[in-house]
Amino acid sequence: MVVKFGGAALADPHAVVARVRDLRARHGSLVVVVSAREGVTNRLLTGLSAVRDERAVERTITWIRRQHPGIGGMGERQAAELGRALRGRERPSAERTDRLLAMGERWAAEWLVQTLQRGGVASTAIDAAELGLWTDGRYGAATIDLLRSRTRVRRELRRRLARGTVPVVTGFFGRGRRGEPVTLGRGGSDYSASAVAALLEAPFVELVKRDASILSADPTIVGAARPVPRLTYAEAEELAEFGARVLHPMTVEPARQAKVEIRVRSLRRPRELTVIGGVGTRASGVRALTASPVVRLVRLRFPGGRRQPGILAELCGRLADVGVPVLQAFTSAAVISLVVGSDRVGTALAVLEPTVAGRGGRLEAPVPVVLIAAVGAGSIRQIGRFPPSILASARGVSATRVSVTLAVPAAGWRSSLRALHRALLEPPSRLRRGPRGGRRPFGPESGRSPRPPRTGGHRSGGRIQS
Ligand code: ASP
Ligand code: MG
Repeated sequence: MVVKFGGAALADPHAVVARVRDLRARHGSLVVVVSAREGVTNRLLTGLSAVRDERAVERTITWIRRQHPGIGGMGERQAAELGRALRGRERPSAERTDRLLAMGERWAAEWLVQTLQRGGVASTAIDAAELGLWTDGRYGAATIDLLRSRTRVRRELRRRLARGTVPVVTGFFGRGRRGEPVTLGRGGSDYSASAVAALLEAPFVELVKRDASILSADPTIVGAARPVPRLTYAEAEELAEFGARVLHPMTVEPARQAKVEIRVRSLRRPRELTVIGGVGTRASGVRALTASPVVRLVRLRFPGGRRQPGILAELCGRLADVGVPVLQAFTSAAVISLVVGSDRVGTALAVLEPTVAGRGGRLEAPVPVVLIAAVGAGSIRQIGRFPPSILASARGVSATRVSVTLAVPAAGWRSSLRALHRALLEPPSRLRRGPRGGRRPFGPESGRSPRPPRTGGHRSGGRIQS
């Protein structure tokens, strides 16, 4: 099997070693995938995005060394290269940025190997680019080429496993055209782990997060969020879309293809687990809620609206020309609403205005909204339980087999999220219990309302930590 440790999970090396020992004892052969240690990727990115003075560069390098005690010659050579890049006046190229970012995972793998060895577990660090985890070569947002990677990755990993060592593979990046490291996008080590598991035809891949498995909502906003025990692949994909920090959005695909079960486990409470895949398609209704960042809904009013052939294609095509993705679309007879990122709305309006005018339409001022999705096969059947005031204020509603999405006004979206959670995912109040197993108490019997902790805490808006 394959197990991946996120950066935050690595902060507890004893628990990590214990988990590796336990999984090995249970499953025999084990491949570990690691992400960079907590904060390292962020630090590299901020360091590279601005010109640093000498003291700041020193501080960064010292901090990184301290995160990875005992990393040998290779680690030191990388630290020196990083120092040169940080002192440079020019922003590094995309290729060089990826090489520098990949250092985070390389340091982490070296450090974890030493930690495991000290804990009596024989292991070797493996660089994913050297291993031959091929990608399409798109710096910063690569896709893994499973077909091309298959033979070599299987052979190399199996060779190590046969020797009785635990391979520790760097997550977050793969191999580019010339053998260089190419990163997969933020949170990419989940995707790496799923791909490695698919290549090895492992029965399952475990993604170990420090605090929690997948929760029913962002716990920094919804205090009563609770673990979700099961998800289908389709539901998990839907959750990954806007709960960006839950899972890298590409994580599900390799697992689905190879029928690998994904287990998202909390390191703190190892019995807390979300199992993805390997589940029947029984519609169970809403399992979790996700919320997008604040985005903009642009209403376009057309006489004859969507009956005009090609109108959606034309609007989306104009947006595509300037690289603006349409995050959601709602249509009625005369109004087409398109949702775009807040930072892209100016660009979007500039290309939409002439198109709309040319078709005799009118464009209304964009409205800030948040897309809240109720995810779960058959969620639509529960529409009668959605609070009527939230449905009424929604600027758009859409449903698929696995989700119902609402565009709620950005002002007060957090309380909309809490109200939806209460209505759809919490037991009716008279049945609510007091504290369960040491978790945060909620419900009237505990004498407290389910008030969430303030946002902006250490989770920085994410639903769970890696
Ligand atoms: N270290 C990378 C990041 O922070 C990859 C990961 O954490 O999965 O995005
Ligand atoms: Mg991470």
